[in-house]
Amino acid sequence: MSHGGVLFLDELGEFTPAALDGLREPLEEGVIRISRAHARAVLPARFQLVAATNPCPCGGGPPGSCECDDVARLRYIRRLSGPLLDRFDLRVAVQRPSVDELLDVVGGEPTAVVAARVATARDVALARAGRLNAELHGDLLDLHARLTPAALDVLRDEMERGRLTGRGYHRVRRVARTIADLRLVRRGGDAAAESGAIEVADVEVALSLRTRIRSTTPGLVA
Ligand SMILES: [Zn+2]
Repeated sequence: MSHGGVLFLDELGEFTPAALDGLREPLEEGVIRISRAHARAVLPARFQLVAATNPCPCGGGPPGSCECDDVARLRYIRRLSGPLLDRFDLRVAVQRPSVDELLDVVGGEPTAVVAARVATARDVALARAGRLNAELHGDLLDLHARLTPAALDVLRDEMERGRLTGRGYHRVRRVARTIADLRLVRRGGDAAAESGAIEVADVEVALSLRTRIRSTTPGLVA
């Protein structure tokens, strides 16, 4: 039912391990295979997966207010397997907003301005490769998401330290491509013509958007 759209799973930690495991196939292959006694079916299932979870069953709350013991907290977060978390391009720990932020005293960039920048970056990606950055695989990734030698070194180091899997490496490159596009769009000018190799700063931002969920201190995680 989410094919072509967004699948949002709230409270990801509350889903059964079997249900979460069932997400792997559609996330990798874009299809769901259903086998019943008399029939088999393959259904298209390409969607954008968005999920949110609290760090523990009680929801965390302000520092020091968590009521869960260590066992309950670990059991809760361990439901989210490493292979499943690895398939999320972006994993962001969200801090509780301050009162000023809630009252909108701080002010920020208007959503419409950000949305316009995103739309432009999307157009840049489509003009360059005929598809979105998230859909770059194999040779297309090498062609359109080239890394500077220094940026490649950063990723090599992450992999050698065991902090980045082979799958994660490709995901980070796609995200870094988009971050580079956004950087060029923000700078103005002919972004499509300028969109060259991915630089160290782009890779570092992409890596910072892959929070290690299991070691995250209390706070909402989305
Ligand atoms: Zn708690």
